[in-house]
Amino acid sequence: MNEILELAEKLVKQQNLTDRELYRLIEERDEETGKYLEEQAGKMRRLYYGNQIYIRGLIEFTNYCKNDCYYCGIRCSNRKAERYRLSREEILSCCKQGYELGFRTFVLQGGEDLWYDDERLCDIVRTIRNGFPDCAITLSCGERSRESYQALFDAGANRYLLRHETADEVHYRRLHPAGMSFSHRMACLRQLKEIGYQVGCGFMVGTPGQTIEHLVRELRFLQSFRPHMVGIGPFLPHRDTPFREEAGGTAELTLYMLSLIRLLLPKVLLPATTALGTAAGDGRERGILAGANVVMPNLSPVSVRKKYMLYDDKICTGEESAQCVGCLSRRIASVGCEIAVSRGDSLMQ
Ligand code: SAH
Repeated sequence: MNEILELAEKLVKQQNLTDRELYRLIEERDEETGKYLEEQAGKMRRLYYGNQIYIRGLIEFTNYCKNDCYYCGIRCSNRKAERYRLSREEILSCCKQGYELGFRTFVLQGGEDLWYDDERLCDIVRTIRNGFPDCAITLSCGERSRESYQALFDAGANRYLLRHETADEVHYRRLHPAGMSFSHRMACLRQLKEIGYQVGCGFMVGTPGQTIEHLVRELRFLQSFRPHMVGIGPFLPHRDTPFREEAGGTAELTLYMLSLIRLLLPKVLLPATTALGTAAGDGRERGILAGANVVMPNLSPVSVRKKYMLYDDKICTGEESAQCVGCLSRRIASVGCEIAVSRGDSLMQ
């Protein structure tokens, strides 16, 4: 009898395992166990979300960034990155197009760009809030002060995505330069929750130095923090970063982690990310099969998409990608699901 498969069955029955058991479940994973976990995670997704996949329109509004994360293509030291900012009108026009395509959530993501101070960013949020009262506004623009998070919330933002990147402080230092602090990032996540945002955190799979112990720690952190959403994707190297020679994370391990997260946090919102779709051509479809229930197509103007290059070969950045929704809805239909036209708020308490 397959001992690892037995551990997986125990996880499904008890909705938990010991650290040692989780470690073995990841370290000694095999195809049979992966298949089983995928089936069970798919069942869990259907139980809470049926065959509905939520879409979030991603607007990459700036690639200026004051940070210098070793993995990221838009880090400030990358002199080759061609920088851009979208104006309030350009952002609004992305929302308008998105609304017509059925989007009811807009995600404003960008580097940490101080040009968007509270006054400018609140003005943008307020304008979207007034123009699209039935939509959710998600921000994903890094670490800001508590006062800033509060002001943006008061201006009408509902959700905030801030991946913690790794739940291990020592590993965090391997991925970020001195000056950046694990405890500050974690403090931001707590503040966002206290203010009343629906909060998304998350990590990359396969970053340099990541061990199975780290992955166990990720799962434990998610269980204790209880985010509304968890964004994970494989680390993929970018040619103009210090990690250019490092191996990327695999779609296989990412899919396995997606299933584990769905089983440990059954109601969480779980995106099948662009990085997963880049690591494998059918990555997002397989992500949905493994328990994901969100996709975040790109709504940025096609003219800037190649400039928001976090890692090499990012998909959906060419001219053809203007029709992301059509392509995605076919992909989603191919795994027996459909796009929901709704805000898709989290079921997490
Ligand atoms: N500045 C914002 C948004 C960052 S970009 C913030 O700090 O939250 C969004 C996410 O892309 C990051 O959180 C990171 O997890 C992911 N990312 C960055 N570089 C990557 C790479 N090389 N491979 C895979 N994912 C990457």
